[in-house]
Amino acid sequence: MALIVQKFGGTSVADLDCIRNVATRVKKEVDQGNQVVVVLSAMAGVTNQLVGWANEVSDFSDHNQYAEYDTVVCTGEQVTVGLLALCLQNMGISARSWLSWQLPIKTDSFHSKARIESIDTTNIRSSLDKGEVVVIPGFQGITEEGRLATLGRGGSDTSAVAMAAVLEADRCDIYTDVDGVYTSDPRIVTKARKLNKVSYEEVLEMASLGAKVLHTRSVEMAMKCGVKVQVRSSFSDAQGTMLVEEEEVMERRLITGIAYSRNDAEITLSKVENIPGVAAHIFGPLAEREINVDMIVQSIGDDGNTTDITFTVPKEEVHNAVEAIENSQIKYDKILSDKDVAKISVIGVGMRSHAGLAQKMFQTLADKGINIRVISTSEIKISVLVSEEYLELALRALHTAYDLDDKEAE
Ligand code: ASP
Ligand code: MG
Repeated sequence: MALIVQKFGGTSVADLDCIRNVATRVKKEVDQGNQVVVVLSAMAGVTNQLVGWANEVSDFSDHNQYAEYDTVVCTGEQVTVGLLALCLQNMGISARSWLSWQLPIKTDSFHSKARIESIDTTNIRSSLDKGEVVVIPGFQGITEEGRLATLGRGGSDTSAVAMAAVLEADRCDIYTDVDGVYTSDPRIVTKARKLNKVSYEEVLEMASLGAKVLHTRSVEMAMKCGVKVQVRSSFSDAQGTMLVEEEEVMERRLITGIAYSRNDAEITLSKVENIPGVAAHIFGPLAEREINVDMIVQSIGDDGNTTDITFTVPKEEVHNAVEAIENSQIKYDKILSDKDVAKISVIGVGMRSHAGLAQKMFQTLADKGINIRVISTSEIKISVLVSEEYLELALRALHTAYDLDDKEAE
């Protein structure tokens, strides 16, 4: 008997028919004699609506109000777990829902972006031992203070992987509306291919770079805890994509995929006084507000006494970031922000052992007349920031240049 965690995303539980379809998927595992823990998202669109309502009544300038934000936005999952438990019961399968506080799933107190600290498995185990399917809401937990908390948008993947890790599940299947991880976004790059295997590191880069396959933290956790994750479609029986160790994909290819993100904004500070510690002065106030800075370039001005610093932050933090800098002691001439930018990243574990892959990216973009605004690299990725209007052209050109095109789609 295996223990399987099945996670279904918002589009997989979008309406009652979808939830009945999920119940059938769960039944398949039960019929094979497996124990099943199901983790669910809210119905597609519901969390957006809840967030919208919260934002209509508050601007959350008082950070303490995020506890109430969480109380509102975690409710979508309560609806779907109850409905699925009902559908299962009416198919003759014993099942029950457990909300996060009933287990409990404990988190820290960073409301709206909390992290799971521990999961008490006692109730889950006894429920499973009674032969029940355990149905759990993703995305939510409870703090030490007894307040409901959410894990950040998309966080139910992380709930599922955390659950699989503590239960030492045999598999964690993440069901979604695509049948796996692709070499690029198939809606833009029609020649994108589905990958049968992808390494944790690669998918981590893809997720954090805006290829919205999986919540970043879920992949970090899967990698750390060795959880066997499969991404697959809840609407077809097609084989999905397995997340595997790097060695399993390294031999076969250099570049695995091309991801992009429209989630960043560019901020430029011009003529910053060029003295030691200047970067620390700028990034200190941002860190204090927990704003993630991603790409950074610094260029010394013509006079040598000042420097221009350009960096990117999440789009929704741009206001917060500009304010943090304006309220600090930093001396500069102008601060500019631009939201019409996109980040494109070429990703592949093969980069660790092959040279010339960055050059190919720069040349391909140059040939198309696309200007690169910021560059950043890691061991397995090269990212560039470009004007958003060139995003689609750049993705397709790079996909071809790195020989990723699906030959059958040509
Ligand atoms: N329902 C939450 C969201 O839309 C969590 C999730 O679906 O992963 O962000
Ligand atoms: Mg999701």
